[in-house]
Amino acid sequence: MSFLSVQAKLRPFKQAVRDLTSGRSWTYSEWDTFVNKCSQWLSLQGLACGDRLVCIAKNCAELVALHFACEQSGVIFVPLNWRLSSDELHTLIADCTPQLIVGDEMANQLELAYFELKTLNNAVAELNGEIQPRNHRALPSLILYTSGTTGKPKGVMHSHDTIMETTLNMALLGQVDEYSTFLCETPMFHVIGLISCVRPALYQGGKILISDGFKPSRTLARLTDKNLLITHYFCVPQMANSLRQEPKFNPSSLYNLKALLTGGAPHPAVQIRQWLNDDIPIVDGYGMSEAGTVFGMPFDIATIDAKAGCVGIPTHRLEVRLADPEGQLVADGVAGEIQLKGLNLFIGIWRQPALFESCFTDDGWFKTGDVAIRDNDGFYFIVDRIKDMFISGGENVYPTEIESVVLKLDSVLECALVGVPDDRWGEVGCLFVVAKSKHSTIEQQEIMDVLEQCLAKYKLPKYIQFVDSLPRNGGGKVMKHRLKAMFHSD
Ligand code: ATP
Ligand code: MG
Repeated sequence: MSFLSVQAKLRPFKQAVRDLTSGRSWTYSEWDTFVNKCSQWLSLQGLACGDRLVCIAKNCAELVALHFACEQSGVIFVPLNWRLSSDELHTLIADCTPQLIVGDEMANQLELAYFELKTLNNAVAELNGEIQPRNHRALPSLILYTSGTTGKPKGVMHSHDTIMETTLNMALLGQVDEYSTFLCETPMFHVIGLISCVRPALYQGGKILISDGFKPSRTLARLTDKNLLITHYFCVPQMANSLRQEPKFNPSSLYNLKALLTGGAPHPAVQIRQWLNDDIPIVDGYGMSEAGTVFGMPFDIATIDAKAGCVGIPTHRLEVRLADPEGQLVADGVAGEIQLKGLNLFIGIWRQPALFESCFTDDGWFKTGDVAIRDNDGFYFIVDRIKDMFISGGENVYPTEIESVVLKLDSVLECALVGVPDDRWGEVGCLFVVAKSKHSTIEQQEIMDVLEQCLAKYKLPKYIQFVDSLPRNGGGKVMKHRLKAMFHSD
């Protein structure tokens, strides 16, 4: 029996899901019935165990219902990033070859036939809701494409069991319970939006509110709304910080928020402390499509304050080790690749078994490709991605460190450092800088001055190039391989 059916028996009349865009809401009993009808509808569409259902839509209740329906019926759910270009979407569709595409207006650009999600309620209304649930908890039920930050997006496969592990971990980390109301706003084509936000609250018998996207003033209004009484919100650090910039931001009106969860990108310690100073419990973490939640801060204000800037400790039942490039384990305080063993790990890469195998060490540890340092208390600090690191004159340079120094300059909006070939040092840094205002000028010397003050000489970039914007992928992350191609040494 699915956990939704269990909740439907335990608390049939309690509100489970509310879609803030359509205004519709479902009790646990109604939601269980809706999901069952969706499973039946999938089979009427001819979809069987192992088939793929692509979904291209902003966050909505129908997307969530189909995710659960796929899990019940053995169909593989593939939510795609609607921000991608039509060409990018076509490439992913050619990769996963879906039997059916569903979507909202975001799917229009595809010029492919698709089923309109908003008509799903009517389409299933007459069905009787009786389904034969499958019982293959270890088979693929979800393909999440990675953000494509370091190369082509990979179709990471998860089963019911692997996403259940992240579901439980998030419930523990965020102290989600039957009294929780979780605002689900992060895009649901990503592991945070679909797994970490949606599932813990429904598993525990709480409530989810579905938002179709982040708009800082609207989000802030919802977080302070006395009718919604939101207790949990999960967003990336940039979103959290832009809430603070809102003219109406007033921390005392956020008293109902039990946990502000953040992750997915580095969260500067100074920003974490700002939330703590305002008495808002903030829980930062680290994760990825392949592994769901990996590290999270324990829910303890004094610890969060003392360790601000770190991503916490490993989640329940996860084994973690840090290794150098030769595979030797590193000591506390020394940077090494994060390697994992656990029940939350992906079960394959769609149609790329060799690539999947290459993600593991000979003795079965998953190589995350990210570098971290563990302190003496067992807390982890993310350093950078291995692919972004470069070696200059025999020394490792981690771009994130240099970038965070440059970002201290008021005149800099954003920046990114990449390693480029150099006859003398092997590789040297080229720093790409975007000025805060198109009309402002930043002198190279101003940047070099601040870097020289803070960093060792081998970390200083040899080149600085000013650009109008940084190349970002559909998920908003900077594509450093594109920057390398943009480099010119004259
Ligand atoms: P691709 O694998 O296609 O190159 P991606 O790695 O960006 O793309 P995701 O799975 O969406 O795709 O992102 C996970 C990555 O995001 C992690 O491997 C890590 O590099 C980064 N990340 C996640 N959380 C944090 C964090 N708290 N601090 C720093 N980096 C983080
Ligand atoms: Mg990745």
